[in-house]
Order: sequence, then structure tokens, then C-alpha cells
Amino acid sequence: MTIKSNEIASLIKEQIKNYSHKVETNDVGTVVTVGDGIASVYGLDKAMLSELLIFPHDVYGMVMNLNEDSVGAILFGNDSLIEEGDIVKRTHKVVEVPVGDALLGRVVNALGHPIDGLGEIKYEKTRPIERIAPGVMTRKSVDTPLETGIKAIDSMIPIGRGQRELIIGDRQTGKTAIAIDTIINQKGKDVLCVYVAIGQKNSSVVQLVEKLKEHDAMSYTTVVSATAAELAPLQYIAPYAGVTMAEEWMEKGKDVLIVYDDLSKHAVAYRTLSLLLKRSPGREAYPGDVFYLHSRLLERACRLSKEYGGGSITALPIIETQAGDITAYIPTNVISITDGQIFLQTELFNSGQRPAIDSGLSVSRVGSAAQFKCVKAVSKSLKIELANFHELQAFAQFGSDLDDSTKKILKHGAILMEVLKQKQYDARTFVEQTIEIYTAQLRVMDDLETSEVNKFLEGLMVSLKKDYSKVLDDIYETKILSKENEDILTEAIKKYKEAYSN
Ligand code: ATP
Ligand code: MG
Repeated sequence: MTIKSNEIASLIKEQIKNYSHKVETNDVGTVVTVGDGIASVYGLDKAMLSELLIFPHDVYGMVMNLNEDSVGAILFGNDSLIEEGDIVKRTHKVVEVPVGDALLGRVVNALGHPIDGLGEIKYEKTRPIERIAPGVMTRKSVDTPLETGIKAIDSMIPIGRGQRELIIGDRQTGKTAIAIDTIINQKGKDVLCVYVAIGQKNSSVVQLVEKLKEHDAMSYTTVVSATAAELAPLQYIAPYAGVTMAEEWMEKGKDVLIVYDDLSKHAVAYRTLSLLLKRSPGREAYPGDVFYLHSRLLERACRLSKEYGGGSITALPIIETQAGDITAYIPTNVISITDGQIFLQTELFNSGQRPAIDSGLSVSRVGSAAQFKCVKAVSKSLKIELANFHELQAFAQFGSDLDDSTKKILKHGAILMEVLKQKQYDARTFVEQTIEIYTAQLRVMDDLETSEVNKFLEGLMVSLKKDYSKVLDDIYETKILSKENEDILTEAIKKYKEAYSN
């Protein structure tokens, strides 16, 4: 068969006319530059913000910058495996992490992959790590306490489920200790916990997980770990990954507690990324949107109303200050986003007042609505009394001649401070807190040496549990201290004191 040349030409023309290209050229790009966990990619014109990208050698990346002729991506794997000219594929999905009960008891990295050596996580669902926070209409104000088991917090700075309470202080002031005690105290209280470690030492995270296991707290906890050894991109997404896991439970109607330890290091990781992505630096070299970074994270913690399942996420972000400066850039930002702060002081910590909570600078703006009535009743004057005490204490350093009423206030203040001391892993139930604070307020300990206070209270609790268990049960059931029970308690405490003194 012969074909004439003009036929060939028309055939080719026909084919060209009907040619429709099936390959989306926008779906693959090439690496232009790579380094420091950042890659600049050419040719991904249609890429979305936060979209997951696939680089060679199974390295994943996420789109962070949409420039005119390239996209800037952060890498979640070893960037030394990637070279200029490598092919990058789009996935058309934003970054997602596994969610659900399979994550309980597990330690995962910022992408939700297990790093505890316990094998694969059999999850059934994933969720995108960025999401719009629940709107005002779906929310409800806090009404159930989140018990920390720490006397100073539950009495003076109570936290409600769905609240965002900042833990702030210098390094080594017991910030993590408060968070861990709180997680351990959720045992049997139907609260699931997520602990997000950002930029910490690997060894601290390992120790912490051991402690949680020891106290049987891992069964209801997930640890998301992006340690200092990991790339800034992983540290950056870790808290979002954590809150995404928490959200899944919240939407199922569960109460969840999430700890971000800590957001100062998170801000630093974000600053690193931003500078590498050539975003213009602002105050303290942080990019202009660093406030948005934390607000869009913390806004996702809330209490949902009944119609939306009634679940909650309580967030305890941690911020490390430098030399107690809570007016620095990142601390002021996070203070303004949260519903209050627990301020820890180095001087108090070093003087042996642990937890080193500064009652004057600490506040919980919404939590008292959720506080148990009995705790509230006995501790309402606590903050003022301590403020008075601290004021007089500073003043008393100069004069030796003090009148009796001043001496009384000083002594009572010292006793109160002693009552608020509490070791780690030594939680108190709200009934015990009520009784201990009530005892202090009865002033039966004001003539004791401060060193005796804890021994006295310990003995008292043992004796009350033995002889007055009905009263204690009653407080536990009703959450209030009735006049009747108050009278019985007063009697019993006074009797115990008499026996103790003799
Ligand atoms: P970093 O800044 O290093 O993260 P941090 O503020 O988180 O420190 P922690 O690690 O919680 O502080 O505590 C510092 C040290 O103080 C630890 O050795 C811890 O065991 C001890 N500590 C914390 N709270 C108490 C407490 N209530 N009683 C006794 N020791 C405590
Ligand atoms: Mg810590």
C-alpha cells in the first residue's frame, strides 16, 4: 500500500489538531535549590499552600511559600538525599496525620509515624493538620474542672475543660513537672491526653514517657515528639499534628488535654524556617505572622456545645522566659491568646517553694466557673492573703519591731505557703485539697513550726479517712462543703490538733 505525501501531511495535521495532552505538567516540578531542610521547586504552578509534596528517596515536603515562579517547601526528611534537578511530585492533598484510638499509648513523630519500636499503628483514618477552628456558635463556656491535682493551681488558678492556660517561667522552674502531674492526674477521669514535645532533648522525652508508663498514664496518652535533633520543619508541624489527633477525639464527644512543651522553641523553629524561606524578619527576627502561628493553634482548643457532641480540648501551652521577662515578644503574644497563665518563678523555686507558682502574676480568667464549689469556698481569700503576706514580708525585712497583728499575718502566710508546697507525682483529690486548705484557714496550724505542717496534715488526713469517711464521701459526691459537714470537720480537726499538741 502506498500513501501519498500530501496524505501523510494531512494525517499528521489531523493528529496534531486532535492532540490533547493528558500529562498535567503542573503536577511535577524540579528542585532548583535545596538545603537546611528547605527546597525551592520550579514548575509546580498549581500547588496549594500546605500541600504534601513527594521528593525522591521517600522524602516528604510541604508547600510553605507560593512565589511567582517557584514554590518554597519544607522537607520532613533527610535533605542531603535531595539534589538540584530532582523531580518533585504533587499529591493534591494537604499534610495529614493518622488519628483515632490506635494512637493511644504510642510515641509518634510529627507526621504520626511510630518511633517507640512497638510496631505499626493500625489507624483507620487521617486528618489534615490545618483546619479552621470551631466557630463561636459551636462553643460553650467551661463548666467542668480539669483537675491538676496540684493544690496551688486547683484552688487559686482553676482550669476548666476547654480552657487554654499558659504555663510560663524560666528554664528549670518546674513547667514540665506541672504538665506531667496534670496528665497523670487524669487517670480514671475520662480525659485523653496528648503531650507534644517540641525542640527538647531526646533523653528528656524518653524519661518522661517512662514516668508516664510508671504511673499508668500512657494508656490514655499519645506523645508527639519532635526533639531538638529533628529538623525545624518537623518541630514546626508537631503541635498542629498533636491538636489534629485531639480534635478527632473532641468531635467524638471526648474531653482531651493537650500540652505543648514548649511554644518558645516552636516559635524559634518557625523563625528558622521563615528566614530560610526568605520571608522578611520582623521584631526579634521573628516573621510578621508569628502571632497567627500560635493563635490558629490555640483557637482550636475549646469546649463544644451539646449539639456538637460536647467534647473539649484543654490546652496547656508552655513558654520559657529569659530572666523572668514575661513582657518579651513571644510571651506577650501567647499570654494574650490564652485564658490565663501560671507563672513560675526561679526565686521561689530555689527557695524551696515548689511548685514555684507566683500567685500574684498567675490568673485563670474563666476557670472559676468550673471549679468545684467546696474548693472554691475554702480558697476564696487565699490569693489576697498571700498578696498581703508577700507585701508585709518585703516590708518586715527592714524593721524588727513588728506589732502582733503583723506577726500574725506573716505567720499565717508562711503556713499557707507551706500548705501549697507539693512534691511531684503527689496529686491531691479535690476532697483532700478542700480539707487541707480548710484546716489552714481554721488557723489551727498557725502555732506550729512551718516544717511540721506537712506531717500534721498527713496525720490529719489519715485520721479523717478512718473516722469521718462519711463526711469525705459526702463532699466527694456533692462537691460542696455543707454547713453540717463543715461543723463536723471543724470539730474533728480541733480534736486532732489537741491530741497532736499533747
Ligand atoms: P526546662 O526549662 O528544662 O524544660 P522545666 O521548667 O520544664 O525545665 P522541670 O523539668 O519540670 O522544669 O523541673 C525541673 C526540676 O525540678 C526537675 O528536676 C524536677 O524534678 C524538679 N521539680 C519540679 N517540680 C518539682 C516539685 N513540685 N517538687 C520537687 N521538685 C520539683
Ligand atoms: Mg521542661
